[in-house]
Amino acid sequence: MTHIEEAVRIVSDPDLQGLAKRGTLFEYLSGQSDRGLAASVECLLETDDYRIAEYVGQYLEVTPNASAEKERAAVRLRQEPKLARGAARLVPWLSTATLNGFIADYVNDAELKAHLSSVIFSIGAFRPELLRPFADLDHPMAAKAMLAGAPDEVADSLARKWRSDEDDEDDPWDTLVSLALIRTDHALEIIGSLRDELDDPADWITLVELAGGLPDSEQKAGYWPAQLAFLAEGGKSEHKVGGSTSGDVPICHICSVPAVHLLTLSASALPFSLSNNPSFYWYACDCGEMDSATVRIADGERTVYYGPKGPADPAISLTPGQLSLTLEKHPNQVGVSLKAAPSQSLNQVGGLPRWVDPDIHPRCPECGLAMPFVASVGGRDTPVGRIAVEGIVYCFWCDGCCVSSTKFQE
Ligand SMILES: [Zn+2]
Ligand SMILES: [Zn+2]
Repeated sequence: MTHIEEAVRIVSDPDLQGLAKRGTLFEYLSGQSDRGLAASVECLLETDDYRIAEYVGQYLEVTPNASAEKERAAVRLRQEPKLARGAARLVPWLSTATLNGFIADYVNDAELKAHLSSVIFSIGAFRPELLRPFADLDHPMAAKAMLAGAPDEVADSLARKWRSDEDDEDDPWDTLVSLALIRTDHALEIIGSLRDELDDPADWITLVELAGGLPDSEQKAGYWPAQLAFLAEGGKSEHKVGGSTSGDVPICHICSVPAVHLLTLSASALPFSLSNNPSFYWYACDCGEMDSATVRIADGERTVYYGPKGPADPAISLTPGQLSLTLEKHPNQVGVSLKAAPSQSLNQVGGLPRWVDPDIHPRCPECGLAMPFVASVGGRDTPVGRIAVEGIVYCFWCDGCCVSSTKFQE
């Protein structure tokens, strides 16, 4: 059987429902040579089934690199608009010419709009600057996507809108969140100047951090250059994911199951400057009651803050064996202004967090300062397995104190 015949057999199998079809297809692809890259491209070049285009697109979305192969697949999918959802998954790797082609199709052909909506959404997330020339683009999320890096006039007009009482249509808080999501120096400066105009100091802190600053230091809220991060086999990179854990760790205050190792970044292998290796922990139970884990890792000792602690269970892992994280430059260095969808988001290292809901950064229990964002990872099927979390874990790090803290959203 050829790859496309196998893919057709899987999506047509009456014994497999919805996501089980996707899981079986992922399993098939990951068993092929080169982890299914060539088989995936073959499927996208030949399929006429929108489910195959979508599932294989999702598979390639969590497969690193291979921009030439992804480009070839997307060029073909553009010719078959009903399959274009698959191309939406490949946007981070596509050439500007191909992306502009999708935008032109969307703008010029009313009949294609429904098919291309998800491609435009994805371009808005990763390459918002390409949408900016089309001010009246008829897409529900375009205006929100184009906040990232928007010109100073846009920030000024949002600030004016917030100050004027005339506009009753939009929630004033949403207007300020939009201003913060612009994330330019100018937008951050405006947000900073609002300190005395906001009733609740916590609102101002949330907005400053969302805009890319920290309220109590000159430090930025993240590190650059921002990277997309991909799960890979153990040893593929120096950044370690999952695997077994020893020593004292936070424990779940409901069921007492110990937290496990989630991620350790290797400072020397990062594209930005840290003095220590940030290490993060998360809970393996499914109580859903814990929303953070804060620890200090220094001189081989782990200190647990805030909640109960106990010995780790070396038998528990969040991943199938120890995996690693490979990095690629994020196409949107400003920060994605569209909310994250927990089951669909890509892992990130550096840059600013793409929240499900905007939230404040944790405070370091040692120095008391707001901690910069350093990574986010989510539970998503990939060619090498899955991190067992049902949402996104946001990872913050105080490099001076060697303290890590996580926040969870779903
Ligand atoms: Zn629990
Ligand atoms: Zn600190």
